[in-house]
Amino acid sequence: MKILFYGTKKYDEQFFTALLPQYPGIEIRFTDTNIHEETAPLARGYEAICAFVNSDLRTEVIRCLAENGVRLILMRCAGYNNVDLKTAEKQNITVLRVPGYSPQAVAEHAMALALTANRHTHKAYIKCRENNFALNGLMGINFYKKTAGIIGTGKIGQAMAKICRGFGMKVLAYDLFPCRDLDFVTYVPLEELLSSSDLISLHCPLTAETHHLICKKTISKMKDGVVLVNTSRGALIKTDDLINGIREHKFFAVGLDVYEEETDFVYEDMSEQILQRSTIQRLLSFPNVTMTSHQGFFTQEALSNIAFTTLENAKAYMNGGDLPNRISC
Ligand code: NAD
Repeated sequence: MKILFYGTKKYDEQFFTALLPQYPGIEIRFTDTNIHEETAPLARGYEAICAFVNSDLRTEVIRCLAENGVRLILMRCAGYNNVDLKTAEKQNITVLRVPGYSPQAVAEHAMALALTANRHTHKAYIKCRENNFALNGLMGINFYKKTAGIIGTGKIGQAMAKICRGFGMKVLAYDLFPCRDLDFVTYVPLEELLSSSDLISLHCPLTAETHHLICKKTISKMKDGVVLVNTSRGALIKTDDLINGIREHKFFAVGLDVYEEETDFVYEDMSEQILQRSTIQRLLSFPNVTMTSHQGFFTQEALSNIAFTTLENAKAYMNGGDLPNRISC
């Protein structure tokens, strides 16, 4: 089976190439070009393509892949909000993903963001380098004995809940399907979580229901001085409402690994360019906002697990085996 890997970086090639000898019959071609309407025809002659969180797999792109003979889309990630599953199903294209490749990687990054935003370690580092040992502007708050509110207690949310417990926090959670194994967590309605939490961390998927879950109305219910962290998907937060909330001093700190505008920029070096849209710049202009570029997944263990499961998915499809990681609508 020939697979065209779209939008790959050196680290993708490194982890996939290392495992490939264990998968006879699978042939990979890497391209750093990402998939969108113009680049979808490159897949002609390939039975499968492999894509990532920043790929554009909307209706027209899927139709084009089908016209070019693609039968399988391998997502080398957990989230799939960027894939038009209905069209894939109509076009008889199977979509497989990599669930839970390392929930700890993302949860640890969520806590790293919460701590960085809270304790200003990113600024303290630069100040010390410049022989500025004054502490003004660096005061944080203790997480110990405070309340963490986890929205979405799937694999990553559970890992985050355990980290928060390790910090000595009381842990509240909100999920449509509470997890019975988390005996130290108290499930509460969303409104109660918002009004009781000192740290709110988002770990639910982006769906029609969760789109702009954090907006003017929900922000108004939060405690003053809350720390908000989003490592899930940008559109869980309505950015303009977040900006207004920050201006109204609602937040002690905000840590974002994902944001609404990211698709055009994420994983690209834009440092020499004049950006035509300014939401990210506006967010970064606030002293209490810390951002990273969708790197929650980015650990050696996670990349290794992603490569393994993606190739196992391809092998199972090729051999007509069970497809436990299939996504359908
Ligand atoms: P998961 O499927 O294991 O868990 C998601 C949880 O959210 C489930 O328990 C589900 O019941 C809950 N949920 C669904 N709709 C909800 C709603 N309306 N309200 C409350 N809870 C709801 O997923 P996961 O592996 O924990 O990943 C969570 C998300 O993290 C992914 O969807 C993805 O967007 C994001 N993610 C980010 C990175 C990164 O690098 N930053 C990496 C992997 C995943």
